[in-house]
Amino acid sequence: MRPLGPIATTVLHRRYLKRDSQGAVVETPDELFHRVAANLAEAEAQFGGDVDATEAQFYRLMRSLDFLPNSPTLMNAGTDLQQLAACFVLPIEDSLESIFTAVKQTALIHQSGGGTGFSFSNLRPRGDVVMKSGGVASGPVSFMKVFDSTTEQIKQGGRRRGANMGVLDVSHPDIEEFITAKREEGVLRNFNLSVATDETFWEALESGTAYNLVNPRTGAVVRQEDPEVILGLIAAAAWESGDPGMLFLDRINEDNPVPTLGRIEATNPCGEVPELPYEACILGSVNLGQHAERGEVDWEKLRETVHLGIRLLDDALEMSSFPIPEIETMVRKTRRLGLGVMGFHDMLVDVGIPYDSDEAVEFASDLMEFVHDEAWVASKQLADERGPFPAWVESTHENPVRNATTTAIAPTGTISLIANCSSSIEPIYNVAYTKHVLEGLEIRNERFVDRAKERGFYSPELLQRIHDRTSIQDVPEIPDDVKQLFQTAHDVPAEQHLRIQAAFQEHVDNAVSKTVNVPQSASVEDIEDIFHSARRYGLKGMTVFRSGARAEQVLGDSPLK
Ligand code: ADP
Repeated sequence: MRPLGPIATTVLHRRYLKRDSQGAVVETPDELFHRVAANLAEAEAQFGGDVDATEAQFYRLMRSLDFLPNSPTLMNAGTDLQQLAACFVLPIEDSLESIFTAVKQTALIHQSGGGTGFSFSNLRPRGDVVMKSGGVASGPVSFMKVFDSTTEQIKQGGRRRGANMGVLDVSHPDIEEFITAKREEGVLRNFNLSVATDETFWEALESGTAYNLVNPRTGAVVRQEDPEVILGLIAAAAWESGDPGMLFLDRINEDNPVPTLGRIEATNPCGEVPELPYEACILGSVNLGQHAERGEVDWEKLRETVHLGIRLLDDALEMSSFPIPEIETMVRKTRRLGLGVMGFHDMLVDVGIPYDSDEAVEFASDLMEFVHDEAWVASKQLADERGPFPAWVESTHENPVRNATTTAIAPTGTISLIANCSSSIEPIYNVAYTKHVLEGLEIRNERFVDRAKERGFYSPELLQRIHDRTSIQDVPEIPDDVKQLFQTAHDVPAEQHLRIQAAFQEHVDNAVSKTVNVPQSASVEDIEDIFHSARRYGLKGMTVFRSGARAEQVLGDSPLK
């Protein structure tokens, strides 16, 4: 197998390799993949599978970088922690008892490498009465700050700080305070925010009527708001800082696989997994750039990777231990998995399709349909061997399957660095850049360099000139067709970002974590329009990021630092 590149090696050394009690690294990257493969394959023994053969398959799958599970699996499998999931949602009820129980649970989950999402919609609004103390309530935003500072204090085994998603329903009386909460720099820096909207809100918006803000404690209508004003406020805040994003709760619950267990009101930190309280999900991503040969998708290889990937994730779910008993119970009931993809833009380059084209949208849809169908074939086969997930009888699935969900598109912030591929389904950010933390190591898009050499326009001077630039569209000596293949996040229009996200969402059980980039010159109205389009496209949620907006990067705790 090819040696790992310098980025992968650095990331693994800084964050992933096993350490002794003194903090010294005690394994090589190769040993990491063996540790994880051996640990996950242990699950096979319970179902009469071949442990050794599976271990060898899992090792090859990961070491070849064809597929990687989410960070907690790579970090914790076969260690004392053994917590393998990245995505959690915790319940928060309207009592101090519940709030501080959730704070403690958050601490435990962050310590184990997971990220947490919460709906704060059940909390009584600020200024409401508190019977016990005769005082006034602090409201959701104030309590979110308690979660935020807890996160701040807990470095995950010294490896990374935790991440949270805070959700508030658009009908909550504190919604304006929530929308503008991150305007002040440094506030809630460990939170992504999302406003939960439903069709009641959107219908009011369309018919130009007011909607009700309701106190969740009493059920009483507190006042009415103009939905246009609230959407404007959301768009203005997003224009400034990228927060809040938006969730479409009715759309999310259309796909709720087990509605009898409850209505879904929140997602994990980056939005790709809508979950019930105490659910958790293990993610894994197929590296698409390694699944095309000579300009064609290698469908057979892709099928094999997806099948083995689902098996690996189901084994991981079996082997994972969770820090809270309620989670253990829920996870075993639904067995939610999130298999997704990374290196989508790499694959587009390989098959010669520009990101900003109708063809790319069609290609994305066909590709994900294939991945999704194969993931379900694999889950069905596992159900034959191991039995369906326990809540299957009350689920929307007609045939027995092993998992309530199989697919999700994660941001792959770190694992795409390890795999050295374009992240998730995003367009590339630039073609050549320097990671200063890597002792000034220059990172180039190998596909671009190869093409430049093939087509005879390569020169070190050219690479120097495009270095750290976020677009190469105005470089005269690069042929147009090559320019088109290497459109960056900035070159791709917002509408195309949405169309690609929608093409994937159509074939994903969970959700798609995607940033819709807009140029610095975009107006607040442009962002409002994007929210409208996102709903029309049937997205479950999304985030808009305006170039040059204040970037409070929740997950910006770069593994390379
Ligand atoms: P990775 O590449 O490390 O596997 P992703 O960037 O794909 O992770 O993120 C997937 C999910 O992992 C996020 O939605 C979130 O739930 C969780 N996650 C990511 N980064 C963090 C972090 N620093 N702390 C806690 N959870 C995180």
